[in-house]
Order: sequence, then structure tokens, then C-alpha cells
Amino acid sequence: MAKKQFKAESKRLLDLMINSIYTHKEIFLRELISNASDAIDKLYYKSLTEKISGMTRNSFFIKIAADKDTRTLTISDNGIGMTKDEMETNLGTIAKSGSLLFKSEGAEGADTEEEKKATEKAAKKIDIIGQFGVGFYSAFMVSSDVKVVSRAYGEDAAYEWESRGTDGYTIKETVKDEIGTDVVLTIKENTADEQYDDFLSPWRVRGLIKRYSDYIRYPIKMDMERTRTKEADGDAEPETETFIEEETLNSMVPLWKRAKSKISEEDYNNFYKEKLNDFEDPLKVVHTGVEGVISYDALLYIPARAPYNYYTKEFEKGLQLYSSGVMIMDKCAELLPDYFGFVRGLVDSQDLSLNISREMLQHDRQLKAIEQRLEKKIKSELAEMLAKDREKYERFFENFGLQLKFGVYDNYGMNKESLQDLILFYSSSEKKPVTLSEYVSRMPEDQKYIYYAVGDTTEKIDKLPQTELLKDKGFEILYGVDDVDEFAFKMLRVYKEKSFKSVSEGDLGIEETEEEKKKSEEQAESSKDLLAAVKEALGDKVSDVRLSKRLKTYPVVLVSGDGISLEMEKVLNSMPTGDKVKAERILEINADHGILTALKNAYEKDKDSVKTYAAILYDQALLMEGLPIDDPAAFSNAVCDLIEKAEQAQT
Ligand code: ADP
Repeated sequence: MAKKQFKAESKRLLDLMINSIYTHKEIFLRELISNASDAIDKLYYKSLTEKISGMTRNSFFIKIAADKDTRTLTISDNGIGMTKDEMETNLGTIAKSGSLLFKSEGAEGADTEEEKKATEKAAKKIDIIGQFGVGFYSAFMVSSDVKVVSRAYGEDAAYEWESRGTDGYTIKETVKDEIGTDVVLTIKENTADEQYDDFLSPWRVRGLIKRYSDYIRYPIKMDMERTRTKEADGDAEPETETFIEEETLNSMVPLWKRAKSKISEEDYNNFYKEKLNDFEDPLKVVHTGVEGVISYDALLYIPARAPYNYYTKEFEKGLQLYSSGVMIMDKCAELLPDYFGFVRGLVDSQDLSLNISREMLQHDRQLKAIEQRLEKKIKSELAEMLAKDREKYERFFENFGLQLKFGVYDNYGMNKESLQDLILFYSSSEKKPVTLSEYVSRMPEDQKYIYYAVGDTTEKIDKLPQTELLKDKGFEILYGVDDVDEFAFKMLRVYKEKSFKSVSEGDLGIEETEEEKKKSEEQAESSKDLLAAVKEALGDKVSDVRLSKRLKTYPVVLVSGDGISLEMEKVLNSMPTGDKVKAERILEINADHGILTALKNAYEKDKDSVKTYAAILYDQALLMEGLPIDDPAAFSNAVCDLIEKAEQAQT
């Protein structure tokens, strides 16, 4: 029979499995049992929704048989089975989840040498892969030959798939009396490093099932050899005899139905990695249950890291949804608000209809009620983490903080109240992320506003001229480095009765002493004509030119008027669509800086010279703000002219 070839990616994974040096080869059993259980889930679900007679929950089981003579370990299930086509697509091609991992290896090379190298490189990462849901192919870690005999529900014909590894597989028709699947592994011979024989020992298999698959909801049965003492006749020595007894190896209680005290962290984490396909332990587990008008159990996980596609359109949020232990949906988006979309896990409720359809979900009151409670629960768990384990919370926030800030901004700030105490911003004075509440509690008496500044990085913001005076006064500033930050600050508006104020806003709202007031009035008066001339020179580039109350050492700064800020202008104009916007610009000149005196002198000598200076100062202010200047060549020439003139004046 002609051999069919595996798809390139599958071949590579297979290679990896066959040559695996991974020490936890035993996980193959958990993977195969999990597939068997999924197949039963599918048929059980079908039997309930299509009211198939003669099928109840008790009809289903998984059976394991070990045969030392033929070196075979067989895992059988009476689940939904596979048609010939399904065998082809499901077993000839690597599972979706795994293929992603493979692409990330960047090993797309066609040539065999390259492929080999890529495989070797990937083999080094086998530790990760071993923990990952690699599924069916993990069987090749322990088998020299794998056979899958399956008959799909509703079909008369059965098929046998067989493969010895990377050289391909065959599929042929066969006979099978019952619906379901048998996976027959021919276990490898022992090697110096590996006792493959172990996997043919019922006691070892029993131990593995208890360890990894105890919560599987269908019985996993195996024939176990037992001994008993025979009643002795008269004075004769009591004899022992062996007999075979079928044992159900697993407790069948799903993890989320077990008492919390009976579940170890390892149990939670294994379940997460296996069932929710992550390769590392979660950051946090939340196991919660409610009894009452609406009852449910929920097992929620916060991942340690944002999935690579988390902040893209491809990411689908959602929790698995179970009705009395039967999975009815893999990703139920309605159970999570967008801003908690990173949470993974499941909800099991006896109050939900098995036949609930996607369309009905949005209107289901039970589901809505569950969602509201989960949201509350997640929020309180996060708040607790923030209060009790700051370091962990900061790790969480690094990954998902952006999502929370979007949440503040989304829907016109509808949820800001519930999220504002969960967000962090870098603080100019503390040099680390702080909460709004911490900020407000430190505000000095004379500070009226919550000040914030936005920019590309904290280092850049730190150098913004706009922050000078505030820092000098000892006022703390919150730094925002994400595009959404400015919008989030604007949406927050007020926190604990304190308004937010951007350091670039026209008026910083700092109270002046009588003396200061008098001084600035005098300065403004004596500079009136000069400022008017500068404004005239800049034309419609600026709406005003005035003396600054926020600068200490810098000569000039651009600030925005009411409405769109300069930062918003940057963000909005970087978007591919939409009209371009322009913030109102105000040029401020530092009254205590030598530049003001110099300008005044120049203005008195030659009114026209102010035009060139005004243009240079304006461009400088733009540059400091990180905004593009209209004519860099003209700016450069003007500066060169000045240098020349300065040199001539010296000599
Ligand atoms: P995954 O389980 O992550 O989808 P696997 O590689 O383990 O990936 O399995 C691939 C597919 O093969 C499964 O999704 C399922 O459709 C099919 N399959 C595997 N084992 C069985 C089984 N015992 N019964 C029916 N279908 C199965």
C-alpha cells in the first residue's frame, strides 16, 4: 500500500517526538486519554441534543489494555470516532495549537539539512514542548508503531491508520463492531536511558492515570491483577491465587467539582496547561462556586504572559461553558467583559440549557447574571493581588495593564469607576508604578490637580520642559507611555475629587503669591510688544505667544490650548484612517531665561530680526515635543547663519 506523507510541519513535530530526549515521556498517556474523553464528550453531547435513544452517560468509558507479549498498550474509547477523511486531516496534520508553536521556530526551510537543524534547535526547547498540548503525536515518544482503528458514529465502515514515524502513514478499511476508537501503541524496546517496559505495567499505568487524568469524567477502566488467600483446608498452608479484576482508575470528579482543600497547585496548573493550552503555569488561579438562585462553579486563570496575538483582532476571548459537566461551548465570549478578556478557564452550571445557541447567548439572563458575578470576582481578586502581592500585580499589569486602560477609555468611560483603582502609572517621584489612590494620598496641601505627562518613554518624559516647575515644586507627575494613556487620563477626568491636568495644558493651575503675581504682570507688560511681534512672525502656526509660568531652565515650550492636546494630535494622526487633526499651539517663552533679554535687545535694534529668531524658537519647541518641523533645511540654515554671525562678532 502506498504511503502517504505527513504535512511538512507535522513531519517536523513527529521527528521531534521520535527523537525526544524529554524526560516526561509519560505525558503521552494523558494526551491520549484527553483525546478519548473529548471524543466521548462529542458523542454524549450529540446524544443529549439529538435525543439518541439507548445512550446515557453511563454508556461511556475508556479502556486501557497492556499486553507484555505483543508489547502493545491500547487505549480504547466509545466516543464519536473518526471517518476516513477525519483520520486524514486530524492525524496527518498536526493540531492547530502545536503548529503555531512550530511556526515560531521559524523553521520553514525546505531543504533537509536545514530542516534537520531546525529540528535540533527545536529539540532543545523540548521541555516547553513537552508541557505543551502536543496531543496525539506525543505517542511517538514511546512507540515504534502507532495504529488507530476507528469507526465514526453513523458509519458502518471502520478504518485503520498506521504509522511508524516520519516516513508516512497508511489508511485501510477494516472491521470494527462498536463505534469508537482504539489507539494501539507498540511500545519501544528498552534503551540504556529509558525503561519503556514501564509503560506496559498496569501499576505504572494506574499511577499515571491517577496523577494526570483523575478528573476525566468517564471511567477509565483497566484489568488489574490481584491476589487473594484461599481458605486453607485443614492444616494445609494457606494458598494465594491471582485473579483479574476490572478497576476504574480515576475518581471521575471534574477538578472544579472537587473540594479546594483537596486540589494541589500542581493539579490546577496541569489542568490549565493541558486543557487551556498554555505552556507555562498561570499567574493566578481563581476557583469559585456559587449556590443559589443561579448556581455555578468556575475555574478561572490569569495567564502569566499575554498571548502573542492578545492585542490583535485575531484574539478571541471567552470561557469554556459546561452544562452539568458537559461542555457545550469552547469559547463563550459573553462570560467576560472585554477588559477582562485575558482571563481563561471555564464555567459549569446546571441552570443552563444544553441547547443554548450562539444567537441566544446574548439574551440569556442566567448567563448575564453569571458574567456579572465573575466580573466582580475577577475585580476583587485583582484588587487583592494589588494589595497583598505588589510584585505579582506589577507582573500582571505589564502584560494586561494596557487592556485595563483601554477598559477605562472604552464605551465613553462607562467602566472607569470599576477599573480606576486597578490601573498603575509610573510616578516621577517614586520612580515606579503607582496607583491613583497612592498618588492622591501624597498630594501636598497646595497641589490642586493630578498632573500627568505623556510621551514615548519615561526617560523622554522626564526631560520634558513642561515638567520642570512641577517637579521643582515637589509635585508628583504620572507618566503615560502608551498611546491610550492620554485618552484614559482625559476619560478619568476626576479621581477622589481631584481633576487630572496635563503638564502641557495652557494653565497649570498653580497659585502664585502676591509677589510672584506682581512680577509676572510687570514682565508681561514690558514684553508686550515683543510677544506681539513674535506672534505676528509665526502667523497661524500659534494661537498665542506668552511668557511661561512652568519653565525653569528651558528657553521655550509649546503647550496646548483647550481641546485636542499635542499628544492626542500625534496619536490620532498616526492612525491610517480618519481626518488629520491639529492641536491649538501656544508658544511660551521663559521670562527668566537670557533668551528673553536677547530677544528684547534684538527687537529694539532691528524689528525684522525677530522674525528669524521666532521661527528658530518655534522649531526648537516642536523638536523638544517630538513633533516634526515643517522645513528642517530652513531651520538648519538659520542656525548656521547664527553661528557664523556669532563668530564674526567675536573676531
Ligand atoms: P488536539 O486534541 O489538540 O486537537 P491531537 O493531535 O491530540 O490534537 O488530535 C488531533 C485530532 O484528532 C483531534 O482534535 C480529534 O479530532 C482527533 N482525535 C484524536 N484522538 C481521537 C479519538 N480517540 N477519537 C476521535 N477523534 C480523535
